[in-house]
Amino acid sequence: MKAAFVYTPRLASAGFPDHVLLPTRLQYVYELLEAYGAFSHSQLLVPRRARIRELLAFHTPEYVKAVQSLSQGKEGVDPACFNLSADGDNPHYPGMYETSLLPVGGSLVAAMHLVKGTCEVVFNPAGGHHHAAADCASGFCIFNDVVVAINSFLSRGMRVAYVDIDAHHGDGVQEAFYHTDQVLTISCHEWGDFLFPGTGSVEETGLGVGRGYSVNLPFYPGTDDGVYLEAFHQVVPPLVRAFAPDVLVTQLGCDTHYQDPLTHLCLTIQGYCRLVEELKGLAVRWLALGGGGYEPGVVARAWAAAYGVMAELNLPDRIPTSFRESYGLSRLWDTEGPDASHSQIEEARRFARHQVERLQSLVFPYHRV
Ligand SMILES: [Zn+2]
Repeated sequence: MKAAFVYTPRLASAGFPDHVLLPTRLQYVYELLEAYGAFSHSQLLVPRRARIRELLAFHTPEYVKAVQSLSQGKEGVDPACFNLSADGDNPHYPGMYETSLLPVGGSLVAAMHLVKGTCEVVFNPAGGHHHAAADCASGFCIFNDVVVAINSFLSRGMRVAYVDIDAHHGDGVQEAFYHTDQVLTISCHEWGDFLFPGTGSVEETGLGVGRGYSVNLPFYPGTDDGVYLEAFHQVVPPLVRAFAPDVLVTQLGCDTHYQDPLTHLCLTIQGYCRLVEELKGLAVRWLALGGGGYEPGVVARAWAAAYGVMAELNLPDRIPTSFRESYGLSRLWDTEGPDASHSQIEEARRFARHQVERLQSLVFPYHRV
């Protein structure tokens, strides 16, 4: 596939430095790929700031104005009305408006290259802010670049399949397209009983003409590569193929990794990349976005390896010396794995198989699968 990667150093220097969603993690991914020589074989695209009218394709004018005002330090806006606060999950800080426009603009630049056909796959690791709602922030997400980018495809009459493999439910994207059959949303995530945002059960399938077009595949804590891949394989490829989208949009959060400090799923980089390979097999045009991932070394390796799959780079396991010396990572692939017991894995397997059976009866008939 003709591939491109979206990055500018401005992404890594902007943002809230003490936040768990470290902006520098994007720099690690870029520098690792650069050390591998990835950009002599594929294109590098520079993101721009999204325009207000582009944000308003999803967000309410009141919310956009509130983010602008708080960013400029103006008085008279109650951040709590927009789920923002000084020191919570969604902190407001000087310059946050401009900083938040860049990932959205990056996803739109990527979408334009796919529409024009100058690229077949574009990876914007700064994108994937899947929790943000039309009128408020949520789960570290200010503006929902995923929905804005999908809307840009819809405005051109394209049908979109969205697959979200972040450990958290892609609730903001699901909600935005819950009533339409023009977007198929599939979110695979840790079961909401154990993880934010708590939604994403198999019973959430869409409403009205959208019934059957919102799909949720929850996993039990302790789910490893084998359990995840078996269920994913039974659900995602058949539904995406039946839907036959013009473009595939994916949120590739790598917080499913067994070393991630915020979640309880137990994938390895190898398992994660098998998912990315499966997604590649489903895409004619593919907008790949980032997402969660809270262990910087894992994020660097997972997303570099994922881009290796997209751009067919064949990255060697041994990490180039220049990067190894700066960051102390020596191998691209995991050499160890999760420490889950046999009974934990069996419980996760039983749970996953039950979810697949429920989806086969609740959702598959809508797609004649
Ligand atoms: Zn996440």
